[in-house]
Amino acid sequence: MGLKRIGFIGLGVMGKPMAINLLRAGYPLTVWNRTRSKMDELIAMGANGANSPREVAERSDVVITMVSDSPDVEEVILGPNGVIHGARPGLIVIDMSTISPKVTRKISEELAKKGVRMLDAPVSGGEKGAKEATLSIMVGGPRDVFEECLPIFEVLGKKITYMGPSGMGQTAKLCNQVICALNIQAVCEGLMLGAKAGLDVRKLLEAVSAGAASSWMLVNLGPKMIERDFKPGFKIRHQQKDLRLALELAAELGLPLPGTALVHQILRIAEAEGLGEEGTQAAIIAMERIAGRRLIE
Ligand code: NAP
Repeated sequence: MGLKRIGFIGLGVMGKPMAINLLRAGYPLTVWNRTRSKMDELIAMGANGANSPREVAERSDVVITMVSDSPDVEEVILGPNGVIHGARPGLIVIDMSTISPKVTRKISEELAKKGVRMLDAPVSGGEKGAKEATLSIMVGGPRDVFEECLPIFEVLGKKITYMGPSGMGQTAKLCNQVICALNIQAVCEGLMLGAKAGLDVRKLLEAVSAGAASSWMLVNLGPKMIERDFKPGFKIRHQQKDLRLALELAAELGLPLPGTALVHQILRIAEAEGLGEEGTQAAIIAMERIAGRRLIE
């Protein structure tokens, strides 16, 4: 049997480079994006363009979705022109967006009624990881479907982990986001303390990046904070969505997450400044508001 025909829905910051990697690996690819112009580059590279998620499903063995939030995944899969209406038994849907585990399970149950199997496979590693195919992929759903799709995941990422039944991939991703968000806040506070105390923050960043304080956030976002490069990356709007989802899950479990709640509110400052579409490194602007000074004056 040849390679599976893949459909890809959502060609944003993450979806586009992931779709390109699948195309380069030789998979027959059909794409759809709500803003049609974002399909042009993929079509020029050899992908087929579809007119709706439904049409993507009709032409594919596996449909991957990489959109924004839970209602968006519901819309492209279960909505009036959604994947479910073009689906036939045996189709596999892989949602790689970060959404609610509860909504994931609901969508999975709806698809199962049509004989469609679903995996939740959110990712970590940012735009860089998407481009370089070094993502960490956390997968929930039936184990046999996971194994069937492993060759596809191996094109997109470096670390692929089966987390358990439907929704457990999303659950793992929310834990990931809690760790990331508090880490960004830690970077902001450490750099601001240094700045206020009169250190050269570039030198500070260099020194602490080589020690125990080093992290993905420090190494990748620290320089952008200093150079005021706020291009996303990972949008603050999406970080806020993820913290909301993590706090909802924690509330269901009766688990306090005081640090997460605090960072969620601090990032509101950046959102209130109209920075929701900027990368999460713009968290430094919220820190600057609190500190009453710029990082570098
Ligand atoms: P993005 O650049 O904002 O792209 C979002 C994509 O979803 C766009 O193609 C958008 O279409 C589409 N979309 C959104 N709502 C839709 C709807 N209702 N119907 C149809 N299409 C819709 O976001 P991204 O950074 O690629 O992130 C995508 C997902 O991956 C999110 O769940 C995010 O949390 C997660 N994620 C992101 C990163 C990162 O570093 N960026 C890392 C890990 C995980 P339009 O072009 O028409 O707007």
